[in-house]
Parts: sequence; structure tokens; C-alpha cells
Amino acid sequence: MDNGNTEIRFWGGLRTIGGTIISIEYEKARIVFDFGFIFSSGSNILDGDVRVRKSKQVADYLALGILPAIDGIYRGEDIQGINLLAKEQDERETVVLVSHMHLDHMGGAGMIDPDIPIYVTDDSLKLYETLEVVGEAVPGYTPNFRACTYGATFYVGHIAITPIAVDHDVIGACGFYIETPDVALFYTGDFRLHGNHPNMIEAAVEYVRSRGLDVLIMEGTTLHSVEDMKQPLVADPSLPKNMLREAEIVNRMLEICKQTDGLAFFNIYHRNIERLEALIQVAKVSNRKLIFELETAYIASRFLKGTDFSVYQSADVKQQRENSTLPIWMEQLLALYETVDKDLVNLHPNQFLLQISYENALELLDLNCENSVYLHANGMPLGDYDPNYQRLIDFLHKQGIPRYDVGTSGHAAPQHLKYVLERLKPSTFIPLHSFYPERLVPDHSRLFLPEYGVTYGIKQNKIIKKGLQVDEKSLH
Ligand SMILES: [Zn+2]
Ligand SMILES: [Zn+2]
Repeated sequence: MDNGNTEIRFWGGLRTIGGTIISIEYEKARIVFDFGFIFSSGSNILDGDVRVRKSKQVADYLALGILPAIDGIYRGEDIQGINLLAKEQDERETVVLVSHMHLDHMGGAGMIDPDIPIYVTDDSLKLYETLEVVGEAVPGYTPNFRACTYGATFYVGHIAITPIAVDHDVIGACGFYIETPDVALFYTGDFRLHGNHPNMIEAAVEYVRSRGLDVLIMEGTTLHSVEDMKQPLVADPSLPKNMLREAEIVNRMLEICKQTDGLAFFNIYHRNIERLEALIQVAKVSNRKLIFELETAYIASRFLKGTDFSVYQSADVKQQRENSTLPIWMEQLLALYETVDKDLVNLHPNQFLLQISYENALELLDLNCENSVYLHANGMPLGDYDPNYQRLIDFLHKQGIPRYDVGTSGHAAPQHLKYVLERLKPSTFIPLHSFYPERLVPDHSRLFLPEYGVTYGIKQNKIIKKGLQVDEKSLH
């Protein structure tokens, strides 16, 4: 029996949200995708108070289970005494792919031997270069990022890779259509149907269907437990109630701003460029002046045309400016854009829409917060799993500032996941990036829940465990 020569292995993300790492190998060629840190109980010790040992970060993270123990990925000097093949000892050609610039997909990129190329889309690369400037580079080496283009196939040995645009809440997101001589796979990355570009997902589905599909590897962030989601899932592209489209956020913010006679604060995640555009829109229609914090303003200056925003000059920035100790990029930004400080804002608070991120919460102490509102639009802290979430709520409460949740998820609703799955009708379906992957049961495909530590041989609709047929029990 010909089982082919393609091998697949899962290193992270099977039952967690994020940290997806998968390797696919054909003869002497190998691809690994994505490369965020793995969620492991070992990481609990890294609570922010325990110091990260920079000179031993790769070895420590391997020991804690935060990095995958993959041969031929790390530099020899970083894995001394560890039973792993260093990159320089491995004869395979290895390439890493990163679907988008969220930390749970790219946070570990600096741990990889920089001789290994890491492919990201053009927009993702531009975003990363921008993030580096504002101090959001990943720890470790400068990753060897290389640009790939939506729809343009490239090869690693006999493995063909085509990045496919998907809509997610970060610029540059893609899935990967992957072909070896044995099998055609599609890895969705993270995606949603309720963003500004549902047509992107339709186009991705059409493309993959036209090329043929054996195995679909799809995210399932929004899937719930049986208790929380009793009904079986029905494929449905319409919008579930209680879910906002990205496009509705502008109107929601406008409604709140209109009813507010004081300052309007907002908190966003600035890798979502469309959210920056939404705020420009809100400011225009509500006749408020939009003020970004420095880091966000820099990103906006790189991605958006025009100068429809000002830059907030905090007390600290003012002092650094006077002492000439500001980083050059900040100096240049402040020279290019109008700057606004607390005194100006406090003169006419209801004329401003001002970004105050969690880390800058103390700025609120300088500002006239009477009748103000805080628009929490998917900025950190994101939810009550983060202890800072309650801290933010308590602090705003103390300042007498009502907080409004005006965000929307970057992840497809369960009925949308099912819809995309049934449109694609793969032979084999592998859900991951989810706490409850088994909840997404296909109508026609075979549901396959892989295990860690197992190398699978894969050919068309067959997945074989170390040369043996996979036990039927794990095939639902
Ligand atoms: Zn993710
Ligand atoms: Zn994501």
C-alpha cells in the first residue's frame, strides 16, 4: 500500500486558543506554521515578576513547554545540552509560515534560528517593521521575515504554498493552501465573516474548492461546551444576534459620543488598522478632534493617508521632549502632527476623542472626566481572564467614568465556522485553536482530532499513525 511520503505533526494549539504549531514534511523539505508561544502550565511561573533569562530564553522556554521541541529550528548555541538537532545539523530545508501578526501566532518568531526564513504577507511584514519601531518587536533574534503575496505560490522542495487572504481583526491576515505530491491542505489561520470583507472568505472558499481539498485545518475559537451550546450547529452565514459587524462599530460609537457632553476616551488594539479608520470616521461625524497615543499615531502614519488625527503629548513626553531624550521616531512624529496636551483638552473636553490605553490609565488623573465615557473597543485588557480587566473597571469606576464595550470579535461565530466547513467539504477536517474542537462536527467529512507527539503519514483522505492506521476511536 502506498502511504505517500508526506508527514504531519502537531506541536501546539490543539485544545488552546492560540499557540498553533504544525509541521508538514515531504522528503527533505519542511514547513512549520504558525509560531506563537505554546500555552503550557509551565508558563505560569512567568508571571511578570520572575525574570526571563535572556541568554537562556530558548532553553528555558523549551524546558517550560512554551516552545516546541522540534529538531532543526533552533541555533546550536541556544540548545546546548538539550537533546535536539540544531538548525545547522539538520539537512532538511525548513521554512516557517506565519498567518498573521497576533502574538499567539508570531510571538516565538525571535526564538527561531535567524537563518530560517519566516514567510509573512507583505502587509504583515510592513506591520511588523512598524511595530519594531514603536517597541513591540518580539523577544530574541530579529526574525528573518520575508514577504509573500496573496495568491502567489512559492515552493519549499516539492511543497507548494499559496497564501490566501482572509478577514481577521489585524491587517495582513492569511490562510495557507498547501500541496505536496500526496495531499492538498488548507490552513485557515484566524478568520471571521462579520468583518468588513466577508467577500474575502467567499473568495478563499472558491479558490480552495477550485484547487481541490483533502484536509481542512480550521480555527474554532468561538466554539462552546455542550452546556453553553446545546443545539447542534447549523451552517448559517447570517449574523447571530448580539454580534456586531465591524462596520456597525462606527455607529455604536457615534450614538454614545452624541449622548456625551464630556470627553470620549477609547481603548483599541492598534494592529487592527480598520479600527483606526473607524475612529477617524467617528471623529469626523461627531465633530470631535481625534487624538492618538504616540505608538498608535506612528502606526496610523504608516498605514493611513492624510493627517486626520493629532498626537497626545503626556506630561512624561513633554518632559522628555524638553530634555531632548525622546526617541527619534517620536521627535519626528511630533514634528509632523499637531500635538495636544491635557490643558488644551480640558478647555473643551466635549470636542475630543482621546485614546487612553490601560497602561496610560494615570493620564485620566490629569483630565477633566466630568460626563466623560470610555469606549472599550477590543483594547487590552480584553476580558476577565486577565486580572488587569477588573483593575481597569475598578479604576474607571473610581474616576466616575462609564465604560462601554463597543468591540467585536476577530473570530467567526460557530454557525459561520460550520458554514465555511460545509462549503469546503474536505475529506478530513481538523479543528484546533479552540477549547472545544470536537464541537464542530462535519456533515460529510471525517472529523480528525490529532494527538501531540505523534507523526502522521498523510495521503489524500488517509491519515496514518506511524505507519499504522489510526485507531477508529479517534475518528468520530
Ligand atoms: Zn489566534
Ligand atoms: Zn488572531
